[in-house]
Amino acid sequence: MIESPLLKQLSGYVGGQWLDAADGATFDVYNPATGERIAAVASMAAAEVEQAVAAGCRALKLMQPYPVETRRRWLEEIRDALQADRDELGRILCLEHGKPLAEAKAEVDYAAGFFDYYSLHIGALEPHSLAEKPRNCSWTVHYRPVGVVGLITPWNFPIGMIAKKLSAALAAGCPSVIKPASETPLTMIALFTLMAERTSLPDGMVNLVMGKASVIGQVLCDSAEVPMLSFTGSTEVGRQLIHDTADQVKKLALELGGNAPFIVFADADLDAAADNLIANKFRGGGQTCVCANRIFVHEDVLASFGAKLAERVGRMTVGDGLSEGVDIGPLINRAGFDKVRRHVQDALDQGGTLVAGPDPGSLGGDLYYPPTVVSGVTPEMACYREETFGPLVPMASFRTEEEVVAAGNDTEFGLACYVFTADAERAQRVAAGLRFGHVGWNTGTGPTPEAPFGGMKASGIGREGGVEGLFEFVEPQTVPRGG
Ligand code: NAP
Ligand code: MG
Repeated sequence: MIESPLLKQLSGYVGGQWLDAADGATFDVYNPATGERIAAVASMAAAEVEQAVAAGCRALKLMQPYPVETRRRWLEEIRDALQADRDELGRILCLEHGKPLAEAKAEVDYAAGFFDYYSLHIGALEPHSLAEKPRNCSWTVHYRPVGVVGLITPWNFPIGMIAKKLSAALAAGCPSVIKPASETPLTMIALFTLMAERTSLPDGMVNLVMGKASVIGQVLCDSAEVPMLSFTGSTEVGRQLIHDTADQVKKLALELGGNAPFIVFADADLDAAADNLIANKFRGGGQTCVCANRIFVHEDVLASFGAKLAERVGRMTVGDGLSEGVDIGPLINRAGFDKVRRHVQDALDQGGTLVAGPDPGSLGGDLYYPPTVVSGVTPEMACYREETFGPLVPMASFRTEEEVVAAGNDTEFGLACYVFTADAERAQRVAAGLRFGHVGWNTGTGPTPEAPFGGMKASGIGREGGVEGLFEFVEPQTVPRGG
């Protein structure tokens, strides 16, 4: 079982107190690298979630508005706590998620970056007066906190995803009720330990609930005291939340699935494209919403690009994220592993060619899937239509710019995409034609705290990061003053 000074309790946190389920229920957390059960954490019922909402309401009413200086201090305190304990947070994250330790620690730095950025830019939420005086009035625009918000996060970035939401919610002055993914609640508990011990947050400003997603989701959807939900996860659950909150006309911020095209033109620097693809694709073992899911390579350079990938993939080490020199950890669970194997097998069954990686039929004893490259991918294949969420690089070839822009857009998703070309005019044209919220040009980099990030189409609603992300958690209120 896991031992950590940041995991003294394995409970929820409500109104400034650690809280177990009234009936003592728990659920188990496993290390995907070993299959070992590492913790049993509180599994809360609807009554405890309602308590958390009530605690948020009390924090909202305690002081209104919370001064900008107070909110900035909360952000700085959390940033400082994350930075001070990055090693221990990274270790916990690695144990419950499986990603390499260096990546886990880098995710803690990334998380701290959101609190830091918003501490510097919170001034954007100060009220301002209009220069114009229409209707003989002076007009002031205030940015009011939306209210108590529900924040629901996935397992693939256990600290990164909550940091994006919580930093903006606190900057706005919104209390929150937070539900982590059941695969990875420990990093969240550790964050709450830090917030409880090292920050001046008032009781009820941050609340942690864990347990059955359907139970917690229903309370958050039904409660009139929760005017907004911010959710990161699958498009399927995102759609469900839209349905379940329609009657209340609840505000939603949704960061949903992706199906990223990675386009390599013949004039691209192929070594740089291959290096960027490897870094982009295999981060988190390929379990990221922004990782390349369809690789389109110009037919003239398909063979040489494939050889570069195979050579790089052959040098990668798969293993327990805690071990030195590991590039790729285990998949999160059996369902995740089986999906990757199904996608590879389906591609091979439909005429794809294995460029690198093992015969999928030979695998399955544990959750480690070696990096795999398949060429000859077509739109009929599952790996082209669905997010694989694993270490598979599926390559297709193309001839013309028009053809590849249409192919890139041939998905319901619109989160991230990547274009490699030395031609600046073409890059501008292609970026404008691709309906994706994030277009990397000669880079495979994903989001950063300083820039807005989010999806078009079925990839979501709203943006996280950047000054744009701050405005998700406020309601502008306009006050014209006459006389
Ligand atoms: P998921 O199954 O949708 O789960 C995400 C979160 O929602 C978890 O906390 C889950 O709880 C909870 N949940 C499930 N059903 C719910 C319901 N009915 N009501 C309320 N909450 C509910 O997604 P996942 O499989 O963990 O994550 C992978 C997906 O997230 C991928 O599609 C990926 O692309 C997407 N993602 C998107 C972004 C982005 O920024 N756009 C970032 C990361 C991941 P339990 O764990 O208890 O089931
Ligand atoms: Mg899930």
